[in-house]
Amino acid sequence: MRPDDISDRARQLHFSSLVVDTHADTTQRFLGGDFAEDGSFHSDLKFDFAARDARGSVDIPRMRQGGLGAVFLSIWIPSKVKGPPAVKRAREQIAAVRAQVGRHPDDLALATTAAEVRAAHQQGKIAALIGIEGGHMINSELAVLRQLAEQGARYMTLTHSGNAEWADSSGATPIHNGLTPFGREVIHEMNRLGMMVDISHASDKTFYDVLAISQAPLIASHSSCRAICDAPRNMSDAMIKALAAKGGVVQINYHVAFLSQEFRDAEMRDPHINQAIESQVRQHCGDNEACELIEGDRITRQYVAQGKLPRVDWSSIIEHIDHAVKLVGAEHVGLGSDFDGANMPYGMEDVSHIPKITEALLRKGYSEDDVRKILGENTLRLMAEVERVGQALRSAPQK
Ligand SMILES: [Zn+2]
Repeated sequence: MRPDDISDRARQLHFSSLVVDTHADTTQRFLGGDFAEDGSFHSDLKFDFAARDARGSVDIPRMRQGGLGAVFLSIWIPSKVKGPPAVKRAREQIAAVRAQVGRHPDDLALATTAAEVRAAHQQGKIAALIGIEGGHMINSELAVLRQLAEQGARYMTLTHSGNAEWADSSGATPIHNGLTPFGREVIHEMNRLGMMVDISHASDKTFYDVLAISQAPLIASHSSCRAICDAPRNMSDAMIKALAAKGGVVQINYHVAFLSQEFRDAEMRDPHINQAIESQVRQHCGDNEACELIEGDRITRQYVAQGKLPRVDWSSIIEHIDHAVKLVGAEHVGLGSDFDGANMPYGMEDVSHIPKITEALLRKGYSEDDVRKILGENTLRLMAEVERVGQALRSAPQK
């Protein structure tokens, strides 16, 4: 086949597939504050989701351009915020997502089931879904978990980079030896609610504890492969195999420090670089999280341009996908970009670039069927299975 034929076939395939991204941090941008023309950040400006933005990676026009059919918008607050303030801020962020959907009814539809995602797609709308990034937002109360599910949350990442009160994170010194007894109750309740259990960010021990007790398959909403880039946030081959053996899906993360060993090594070798980036970001943003996430990416890019950090190409996303597929098959791999919350590789600056992934996989010889699975069908299958388990648990007689 001529190269041009592959390009045409890729476009056709991509734009006729239901493409799902299970992790974008764009929600932070809905909460007030935006950049002025000169790049300065002002808390009284409002981010316009419907306008094409030169900053960040996700807005409605660029999702359309990239053929994205569904996006999980992350509800995130730092791990250090706990208790009632964490619950309050989670609710505010969910309300902000719902308000955006309300403001753009021709482009967006809130979805809470796989069927609703397909219905939105059929109507030519982008399905907006809600994921809670960090179990600290339930304040150790199952009632709060149930309320978040009722408000539309369809997965919960058990921890962020700090430990939750009931589960250890990959980003902190373990204090619970994985999942606590209350953590097991959380998993059971999530299974019952038909909410996906997200093990991205969790410690390895937490992952294996959850895998052993969950009655539904698990999702890793935004994690890559440790065999290629040895970061604690990524999954080892053994973990990916164990996840897949129970029907789970790993959604590959595009963050450069999770994609590239060379990038990670450079960061580890010279921690001053990250400190310098952080202080520049703070100078510009104060402690506004929306600003921090967008500026972190932009300033990191400047360091790359100056040769202080290695340049990572978008094609490493394909390496991670291919590694996971070789390990466990195309049924257990998907996309979890981390757009607007991480540092994107060259050529994947924003969501408009994702059709390249489809083309690259076709060029590697992937079947159209396998590409569709990776683009979104695996996530929808997982979601539907988690819903089915939830329904069965809810209708089973109480023991
Ligand atoms: Zn994350």
